[in-house]
Amino acid sequence: MVIIVNSSSEEKFNELIDWIKGQNLQPHIVRGDFSTIVGLVGDTSRVDIEQIRSFDIVRDVRRVEEPYKQANRKFHPKDTIVRINDNVSIGGPNNFTFMAGPCSVETEEQIIGIARSVKAAGAQILRGGAFKPRTSPYSFQGLGADGIKLLLEAKKETGLPIVTELMNINHLPLFEDVDIIQIGARNMQNFDLLKEVGKTNKPILLKRGLANTIRELLMSAEYIMSSGNENVILCERGIRTFETATRNTLDLSSVPVLHECTHLPVIVDPSHATGKSRLVRPMSMAAAACGANGLIIEVHNDPPHALCDGAQSLRPEQFAEVAKSVRLICAATREANAGLESPIA
Ligand code: PEP
Ligand code: MN
Repeated sequence: MVIIVNSSSEEKFNELIDWIKGQNLQPHIVRGDFSTIVGLVGDTSRVDIEQIRSFDIVRDVRRVEEPYKQANRKFHPKDTIVRINDNVSIGGPNNFTFMAGPCSVETEEQIIGIARSVKAAGAQILRGGAFKPRTSPYSFQGLGADGIKLLLEAKKETGLPIVTELMNINHLPLFEDVDIIQIGARNMQNFDLLKEVGKTNKPILLKRGLANTIRELLMSAEYIMSSGNENVILCERGIRTFETATRNTLDLSSVPVLHECTHLPVIVDPSHATGKSRLVRPMSMAAAACGANGLIIEVHNDPPHALCDGAQSLRPEQFAEVAKSVRLICAATREANAGLESPIA
């Protein structure tokens, strides 16, 4: 349920908030210039809407039918902007974020070299897996804690914030200096893991599960947010369908659908979605055109010898070309959307 309140005296506002708390509900307050939205979290089924309307500062009351509340745009009409550091903000109409780097951290030379080249091409965030969720137990499993150390070296060398995947909550202490914690597709519904990262204040990149609906993705975001962490970035990375021409099927329509449903930023991963490096450029451009807030792209200095996902990895110079094309699409999309009340409608 959301209550739209006219901006008025603090005393009247506090009276309403006290009443809400007295009903065993938590108010979630979002202040705007002319009105304030108070979202009610908890069991609202027995709340009397007419009683809320009787507070004279209340302009309107609406029930939120969807099971996700804090992630819901009705709770928070403005886009959430997740701040990574002073230079990087993710989300909103004026930011477009490139995250790039190898599937897996392999050596110091590899990660620092790639970090330097993706930074030169305009990436704002370095990606790299240290703990890898591999389908086969015989495949390279990642460097683990040593991989995190190498990512931190690359961060020190280049100043790029880093994003890397957490698979096991016991590893959380190793992530203290990691800027964004990734929850991978295979763990999207690991609810215990979601609750634990929800207790941190780190930005979380939450990837859509291989066979999960948009609503399930939003419910997973809700797990993190309801545990106290509102810094959630969603990632569309393709879903499994009957199609075999691509590794997954990139569901780009999820981007505008998500923007309708939620205020959280939406990033697209064309690398895992397609599994083929030559498809990364067209799908990156398409993602930018349909409103993605950024991209996460796999880049490797030597794709044929990559320990993981070489077939979908771009060489640094190819990434630079993709970034250039995407920036052109972003500019054209902004121009096309200018003056429209909503770029979605
Ligand atoms: C990754 O980004 O390294 C990864 C394993 O992706 P996903 O969880 O989307 O498969
Ligand atoms: Mn990968």
